[in-house]
Parts: sequence; C-alpha cells; structure tokens
Amino acid sequence: MAHRAVFPISRVKGFTHDRCTKWWSDDRHMMVYFDTSKLDEIYYVTGVPEPEWDMSKSWVPSSIEEMRAAFDGWHTGVQSLIEGTVEVTKWPLLERDPLPVWSRGRLVLLGDACHPMKPHMAQGAAMAIEDAAMLTRCFTEAGVDDYAAAFALYEANRSERASKVQLVSHNNTWLRTNETPTGVSATMCTTCRWFLPDARRCRQRHDVRLSQDARTRPGRCAGPMRHSPSR
Ligand SMILES: Cc1cc2nc3c(=O)[nH]c(=O)nc-3n(C[C@H](O)[C@H](O)[C@H](O)COP(=O)(O)OP(=O)(O)OC[C@H]3O[C@@H](n4cnc5c(N)ncnc54)[C@H](O)[C@@H]3O)c2cc1C
Repeated sequence: MAHRAVFPISRVKGFTHDRCTKWWSDDRHMMVYFDTSKLDEIYYVTGVPEPEWDMSKSWVPSSIEEMRAAFDGWHTGVQSLIEGTVEVTKWPLLERDPLPVWSRGRLVLLGDACHPMKPHMAQGAAMAIEDAAMLTRCFTEAGVDDYAAAFALYEANRSERASKVQLVSHNNTWLRTNETPTGVSATMCTTCRWFLPDARRCRQRHDVRLSQDARTRPGRCAGPMRHSPSR
C-alpha cells in the first residue's frame, strides 16, 4: 500500500530537502521529490505493508496520526514531511506476474495492460513508451501484413527487459545499494539499434530471432559492437 501526499514546501519546517530522496527500512520506504520546477511543492509516496485491502476502493483517506505511527522513529526529514502534510491518502499497489503470452491473433498488448508493475522504479510509463517504439520498429521490419512476425519480434525484444523491470520494481531493490545502470537498463547495439541485454545476446538474437533480417541484410550487425546505455 502507498500513502500519497502533495503540499507546499513552505509547510515543511526544520529540514531542507533534496530534490529527490528515498528513505528506507526493512519493510517500508518513503520516496520524496519536488514536483514543480520552482521547487515550491513537494510530493511523497510510501510503500508500507497492509495486511488487507477492500478491493472495492481504489484509495481511502489516511491521516497524519497514521503516518506518525507508520514512520515512528524515522529521520527528522521524514518527520518534517509528516508534520507538514495537508491531506494524505492510501492506495493499493497492484501488479501481475509477467504474462506468458503477449499477443494472440491480431491482438497485442503493451504497457500496463501487458506488464503492470509496482511504482518503485517509476518505470511504468517508460516501459510503455519503449514497447511502443519497439512495436513500431518491428512493424517496419516485418511489414504491417506480417503482424504475427512483428508481434513475435516485438515480444522477443521486449519481454526480458520488461519482466526484469517488473521484478526489480516488485522487489523494491533498485538504488537501495549502488548499482550500475546495466543492472536494469537495456543496452542498445549501436549498429543495429535493437535493445539488447548484452553483446552476446545481441549476436544470438540477430542470428536466431532476426535470422530472416540478418539474411536479407548481411553484415547489418556483424561489425564490432559497442553497447551503450539505453537512450
Ligand atoms: C501516481 C503515479 C505516478 C507514476 N509515475 C511514473 C513515473 O514517474 N514514471 C513512469 O515511467 N511511470 C509512472 N507511472 C506509471 C504510468 O503512469 C503507467 O505505467 C502508464 O501510464 C501506463 O501507460 P499505458 O498506456 O500502458 O496505460 P494507461 O496510461 O492506463 O492508458 C490506458 C488508456 O486506455 C483507456 N481505456 C481503458 N479502457 C478503455 C476502453 N475500453 N476503450 C478505450 N479506452 C480505454 C484509459 O482511459 C487510458 O487512457 C505512474 C503512475 C501513477 C499512478
């Protein structure tokens, strides 16, 4: 479950907040960031265990008292936000396991319909946009008439990354320790521009999954490959 609140920073006393901070303990967290360029309004969203949720409600009111209890003993910065809160609500965090199938017939899924995830990496919309970009490229590759090939290519190039982001979001481990972007970010072959986990897989995918493409365009991905973070 997530508490959510947004209010003027002028209400926060006794602590100067950075632009974005995540406060952690073993079973809960609070993510805090300014949501205006003027830095005059601050937002927090938490992750706190909730044993039960009435699924007929998408959100319910919470309170400063409940926040104090949930974050009792936490840092001064957290307390300053709780005391500055105007109104706070609680929302369930809903997700799914990765789907085994992304398309059937002429129907294909992308975005939240395909891989809903917890918000702990702030990647839901990012994944939807990547899906759309990849699907467009797959149609360009396969042609709009061969939608089955386009869908297969799309899923082959997206499922691993989207599922991994789903999993890391679920585990809420991202940025808890220092990590390299390659831990979760796609890399992209700078020659062929497909998102790929690493160079070895890139060759495999182009040999196996893009074999038709590789035959029609020999050498397209054959040169020395540099891989750079997704952009
Ligand atoms: C508070 C909050 C903060 C977030 N912050 C981030 C963030 O920082 N970064 C990030 O990457 N992601 C973030 N997300 C997640 C992101 O918003 C979603 O992952 C993203 O919007 C999913 O896009 P989508 O197109 O798949 O689905 P949606 O945005 O849900 O779009 C689906 C659309 O389909 C429409 N629709 C539904 N049923 C029908 C129907 N029968 N006929 C026609 N239309 C229909 C809906 O009205 C909706 O407009 C956040 C989400 C929330 C709630």
